[in-house]
Amino acid sequence: MRALHWFRSDLRLRDNRALAEAAGRAERLVCAFVLDDALLASDRTAPPRLRFLLDCLERLDAGLRERGQRLVVRRGDPRREIPRLLEETRAGLLSFNRDYGPFARRRDGAVARAAEKAGVDVLTCKDRVVFESTELRTGQGEPYRVFTPFRNAWWKRFEAEGPAPGGALRLPPPVGGVKAGAVPGPAALGVAADATEIPTAGEEAARRRLRAFLDGAVARYPTDRDLPALDGTSRLSPYLRLGAVSVRTCVAEALEQARGVPGSAAGARKWVDELIWRDFYHAILSEYPHVLERAFKPEYDRVRWNQDDEGFAAWCEGRTGFPIVDAGMRQLARTGWMHNRVRMIVASFLTKDLLVDWRRGERFFQSRLVDGDPASNNGGWQWAASTGTDAQPYFRIFNPVSQGERWDPDGVYVRRFVPELADVPDRFVHHPWDAPRPPAGYPAPILDHASRRQEALRRFEAVRKATGRGRR
Ligand SMILES: Cc1cc2nc3c(=O)[nH]c(=O)nc-3n(C[C@H](O)[C@H](O)[C@H](O)COP(=O)(O)OP(=O)(O)OC[C@H]3O[C@@H](n4cnc5c(N)ncnc54)[C@H](O)[C@@H]3O)c2cc1C
Repeated sequence: MRALHWFRSDLRLRDNRALAEAAGRAERLVCAFVLDDALLASDRTAPPRLRFLLDCLERLDAGLRERGQRLVVRRGDPRREIPRLLEETRAGLLSFNRDYGPFARRRDGAVARAAEKAGVDVLTCKDRVVFESTELRTGQGEPYRVFTPFRNAWWKRFEAEGPAPGGALRLPPPVGGVKAGAVPGPAALGVAADATEIPTAGEEAARRRLRAFLDGAVARYPTDRDLPALDGTSRLSPYLRLGAVSVRTCVAEALEQARGVPGSAAGARKWVDELIWRDFYHAILSEYPHVLERAFKPEYDRVRWNQDDEGFAAWCEGRTGFPIVDAGMRQLARTGWMHNRVRMIVASFLTKDLLVDWRRGERFFQSRLVDGDPASNNGGWQWAASTGTDAQPYFRIFNPVSQGERWDPDGVYVRRFVPELADVPDRFVHHPWDAPRPPAGYPAPILDHASRRQEALRRFEAVRKATGRGRR
């Protein structure tokens, strides 16, 4: 039997569920990827993420070739291209790993229906997450809406029946006579050769990074993860985004480390907790797809936001006059990535200081991040805007100065991305306007945090009063 494996966000050959199933069943295998015109044209597609994707595809193709296989690359609408390839290759089985966003689910449903209509068996697998939303339910059989009970249920189920990672695969030979089509270079797709630094792509790079993190920083992760000047987190997010590493492998190797290496248990478990946030936001997107358009909690669709195009532009360009915010936005521009603590601070600044709608920030992030992922990005933004799943009893507004002083006390991080602050003494580095000589070329703060904070409280309080819901 011939099988076609459709690669999407699973660009690896190790521990890949649907690929392993297809490889086990088929005598001949076609490995395909479709560059989707709709995604290529979308203004949400970040150039660094697209470049990283193309690099990952090249590595995947090289890995397939080492195993006597190759990657067949098509461009167009997968709803047309996959059925076409099935016909061309006379495959009797189509395999792919499941995706959870509404766009992907519609697409996959259409492809699966077309395949089945043509008499092709369709095999889909859970691969992108450790547990799908349907596997973790409250006592009432409902999906979880709050992280902590989700995490507790996750660990309980994991300890009982956590999925073990698979290994490297033996692949059947390819189907002859199929035009492979090369992975296009960025220029062919109109991706500007901009100055964004992107990480080395592919499965091997991901494995090296995971090993280096587990052999090093994981031990200090509970504290260092919040300090943006340090290399205290794994930086695996772009690889997890495109599936260059499997989340099962990450969890299994972290827990192995926790068992085997004294001093790393707390760090490794904390790190797995962060991977559970990823499962959580995928579960939220899967159960509540409206979050891509609207607030998770509907009453917060009533919040009155400012248009403030000028403030938004200053935020995007990293010239708000608040060093930690500007450093974060410039890190994003330069590297396509931003430290988690700083993502929270800049998102709070946009929504609670500038009072700009979280959807504009979400969209901007998605159009710039190398790890931009609809589920995690939306979850992060709704968390920061207090419109999401979070169950904090208080209303959170970050003070950009005290956050900077707390997490970047010597200003090492802000100076790395805001060179104008190089000569500002440490004690003024997060409020340079108070320095004896304010730095040349660096803007004065564009707003007064204390009064904006009051205004944000008023606007959220107005929603609470109008709807009788929401937190105090
Ligand atoms: C406003 C905002 C937007 C965000 N947008 C994205 C996004 O588009 N894509 C994305 O992968 N993460 C996003 N995050 C979550 C988090 O910032 C990144 O996952 C993390 O910074 C990636 O760095 P790392 O790989 O070194 O993380 P580590 O600390 O090493 O964590 C390991 C992995 O756990 C997952 N993870 C960690 N924290 C979170 C979290 N809060 N939510 C979901 N998953 C998490 C990621 O897959 C990450 O790679 C966002 C957070 C905020 C506040």
